[in-house]
Amino acid sequence: MQATLTFLGTGTSMGVPTLGCPCAVCTDAHQPNSPNRRTRPSVLIAYNGRNVLIDTGPDFHAQAIRERLMAVDAVLYTHNHADHILGMDDLRPLSFARPEGIALYADDATATVIERVFEYTFRKVDRYPTSARVHLNRISTDLGTQVELFGVTFLRVPVTHGRNTIAGYRFGSAAYLTDMNDIPESSLPYLQDLDILILDALRHEPHPSHSHLANSIALVEKLKPKRAFFTHISHDLDHNTTNASLPANMQLAHDGQRLTFDINSETL
Ligand SMILES: [Zn+2]
Ligand SMILES: [Zn+2]
Ligand SMILES: [Zn+2]
Repeated sequence: MQATLTFLGTGTSMGVPTLGCPCAVCTDAHQPNSPNRRTRPSVLIAYNGRNVLIDTGPDFHAQAIRERLMAVDAVLYTHNHADHILGMDDLRPLSFARPEGIALYADDATATVIERVFEYTFRKVDRYPTSARVHLNRISTDLGTQVELFGVTFLRVPVTHGRNTIAGYRFGSAAYLTDMNDIPESSLPYLQDLDILILDALRHEPHPSHSHLANSIALVEKLKPKRAFFTHISHDLDHNTTNASLPANMQLAHDGQRLTFDINSETL
């Protein structure tokens, strides 16, 4: 089954342009169609008439308008940082149209923060009447945890994000690993035979919780996907200059970019 993945956002937590920054990349990113304009990171995976999101960041409202997104069927969360969860409340109008609500999937550490930030949505008594109709499903952090969504298996792939181990996801022949500086050995078997690998590449210099470009290139060379796309990008990397320097099967993703792939191919 063919699926389309859309990069809703490809920027780091501060977005590009970064507020208050006069650098050349941020200046260029003020142009509306600049490939350097990067909103906070999230992807939309569409297949079989369904729309599945990975994360809802603070730019979700603008991203959904840009992509004319008319429905969301489920959301998988990677972790509890603001740039990945703060758009949850913008699911409200999309959730009202669905009597069954929208299913959210998150590990315990992420679900706990979502419940705290959006307390009025999840309280049992005196719930805010027009809060989002969402169901927060806690998923295990055990290796091999899978979520079945509309005939497709989403496999949780643990990745190292500084002092935390958070979720990446594999679905068919694609994998999305935002926010990570390393991949544990035990996760490597889940990342073989990929057509598409999407992974964190923050900047040129090393960072304690994000992969830098040279490390991301080395990870791609180790995992050997057919194509690799970098995301969670800061203002350190100019889109066109960086892409011209990369090997042929690797590129910086940009907001609004779409990829098609086979979502039903074997996962482990
Ligand atoms: Zn992030
Ligand atoms: Zn800048
Ligand atoms: Zn993070």
